[in-house]
Amino acid sequence: MVAELDFLSEWIPEQMQPGTLFVLENAGEIGEKEDPYWAVLSCPSCGTLGLVTRKQMAGLVAVICGSENCSAQFFIRENEILPRKPV
Ligand SMILES: [Zn+2]
Repeated sequence: MVAELDFLSEWIPEQMQPGTLFVLENAGEIGEKEDPYWAVLSCPSCGTLGLVTRKQMAGLVAVICGSENCSAQFFIRENEILPRKPV
């Protein structure tokens, strides 16, 4: 798993390497009102793309990879990726 986030300012799918984050143009406008979708993140472990919410961006909620073959769980802390400690 990579340990640092890379920010993309433009949506370039080929550049979505593991750990790359792209903030949605309509961040905060879709999903739940309480915790809307904010960005697209390429899983730092396997590269699967997934949506992250505002609370996940703020590090309040762990991000869990959506791939069936990957069990990555981590927190976003500014531009770092912190693996979630086993409970
Ligand atoms: Zn993954």
